[in-house]
Amino acid sequence: MSDVIAALSAALGSHNVLTGADIGAKYKSDMSGSGESLPRALIRPRSVAEVSTALRLCHEHGTAVVPQGGLTGLAGGANPRGEDIALSLELLSGIEEIDVQAGTLTAFAGTPLARAQDAAAAAGFLLPLDLGSRGSAQIGGNVATNAGGNRVIRYGMARALVLGLEVVLADGTILTHLNKMLKNNAGFDLKQLFIGSEGTLGIITRVVFRLKPLPRSTATAFCAAPDFKSVLNLLGRAEGELGGPSAFEVMWPDFYRFVTAHPATKAQPLPQDHGFYVLIEHQGNDAEADPARFEAFLGAALEDDIIADAVIAQNEKDAQSFWRVREGLALDTLPHLVNFDVSLPIGSIDDFARDCRQRLAVRWPLEGENHAAFFGHIGDSNLHICVSVAYGPGEGMHDVDEIVYATVRDFNGSVSAEHGIGTLKRDYLGHSRSAAEIEVMRRLKAALDPKGILNPGKVI
Ligand code: ZN
Repeated sequence: MSDVIAALSAALGSHNVLTGADIGAKYKSDMSGSGESLPRALIRPRSVAEVSTALRLCHEHGTAVVPQGGLTGLAGGANPRGEDIALSLELLSGIEEIDVQAGTLTAFAGTPLARAQDAAAAAGFLLPLDLGSRGSAQIGGNVATNAGGNRVIRYGMARALVLGLEVVLADGTILTHLNKMLKNNAGFDLKQLFIGSEGTLGIITRVVFRLKPLPRSTATAFCAAPDFKSVLNLLGRAEGELGGPSAFEVMWPDFYRFVTAHPATKAQPLPQDHGFYVLIEHQGNDAEADPARFEAFLGAALEDDIIADAVIAQNEKDAQSFWRVREGLALDTLPHLVNFDVSLPIGSIDDFARDCRQRLAVRWPLEGENHAAFFGHIGDSNLHICVSVAYGPGEGMHDVDEIVYATVRDFNGSVSAEHGIGTLKRDYLGHSRSAAEIEVMRRLKAALDPKGILNPGKVI
């Protein structure tokens, strides 16, 4: 047993320092499936003090540490290399406090997102952060990656919902700032450095979330629009007339036709021959008046030819079937699927989609077995793309990446809207950030983690 493993075992107890066959296969990779090695050891601290001790020991030994939350990331950010120590936050879990006067929830990093949402709801509040992997994703990982999700248009990314943070630095220093105040301009807002830095600058141990009132009504509709201009028109009207939608999800026709034709989806809210499809959701606080207002909003949009057709969910089951179409799980059945999560200035998203599709089609004609499906949280300028093509000899995922990310660069977009950079998009960071910006990132990294032990090889 090496020195560092022995020191960690002495400090954390040997049952929380696992090696060899005791480490479960799941700690190899996040949900991207791109991780290939088990870590040299898996440690599971149970307290903030133990996280601090573990980092101090790893720092002394110059041993790299890869923080792991629920492993639901899609960018390889939590994947260990064989020589790394993986630090799982799974035992550092639980709600510490809900402050009903401040409207905040304080919880440990390893708390599953759904558990934090349920605790907030039981106290009469909404924790607005929400994503498909809520059951296993942990809040520390959500904040470390600045997670997005379905309600960003209304409430912002994780960053917008964090008031306070506790972080352990590479040398074991505990930086506690469990702020609950909306206004606090006393010096640098250090928490922002760690939010979205994917565990490269420090390990998050506690989070203070800002809560919102629980909505009293939810209305969901599936609409068809003739063109992208009409989609943006509908979004503008929803912002103005409905006080903002809680979700505004757009599907291009190739996506819609593929997903609704697939037996797994079991739903086809509207015919397949429209130009665009929009799932629009509105949450309000007037259970009596909201449904009629939503219907009137859609009626006016129909009358003004902004939308060509619409169906309103009559119950939860309808709403779920609309979301099932949008989630597009049928796409996961395609062979060697490549998923993209990019952002574009909202007005140029459709031009981007057309250009990107053309560039892909030059290499792989998009017919038969070859697919490129476009959809996403368009109200947040976030486009997801699923590409599945039959590769020729010597071709692979890298070739699809090159085409899509070059198009993103040419449209001044971002190579990651919400999934982060991790390892999978590291080579393309320069497509979206300038050399000067990346140099400042490196300087911050060197200042906070001079030995480079925290999540090495990720982001930059
Ligand atoms: Zn998404």
